[in-house]
Amino acid sequence: MNNESFDCPFCKKSFPLINDTFSVTHIAFSNGMTKSFQGPFPLGYKVGTFKNETNSINFIMYKCPSCKRTSFEMIGIGTDFGENNKFNIYPKNDGRKNYPEFVNPYIRNDYEEAYSILELSPKSSATLSRRIIEEILLDFYGLSKGTLFNKIQKLESKNEAINITNELNAIRQVGNIGAHFNLDSNKIPNDVSTEEAKLLLQVVEDIIDETYIRKHDVDSRKTSIQELANKFKKK
Ligand SMILES: [Zn+2]
Repeated sequence: MNNESFDCPFCKKSFPLINDTFSVTHIAFSNGMTKSFQGPFPLGYKVGTFKNETNSINFIMYKCPSCKRTSFEMIGIGTDFGENNKFNIYPKNDGRKNYPEFVNPYIRNDYEEAYSILELSPKSSATLSRRIIEEILLDFYGLSKGTLFNKIQKLESKNEAINITNELNAIRQVGNIGAHFNLDSNKIPNDVSTEEAKLLLQVVEDIIDETYIRKHDVDSRKTSIQELANKFKKK
């Protein structure tokens, strides 16, 4: 076997790929018959061993020794697949976003962490999400004083960021999370369900879209228009 390891998408623990944790089934099509045989394979199981086949797949199972759950993956081999040859079958990608570098690094880090601990500790995840919201309100709108509720009110009174204030007001109705919008940001919500924490993280994503992403799009468009205008001027 090889020295590779795998990070369990369920419990986030890393484990080595050995006979007990890892299996590959190779499936190929030849002369109207489907042939398959089972691994585990040595290094190169992903593509190397089957390089010369036209089109085939490796179906891979990873069994986590900690939480005992199994992840399924498919690797495509051959000309049909090209570079993007890896497909998560189960669990599906958890949907987390990869934010570009113009989103502040501390916000990206907090988001990454809030996502990673969503299932393990919804309470900590929600606390981080709450912190991200405060960070954006400070960084983007210069709002530092008062509770989160005060800040939302301030944005509303200036008629700014209507989509954001609408969404924050909506989530304020959600039990344990909403109750803490009136408190200091260091106060950790008590019982927060995974569902609630996920909802808050989605609000965070929407706010990042409405602020950093949107601003970047508008700025890029402005630059393009300016460049085009300059061209016309020169003529
Ligand atoms: Zn696991």
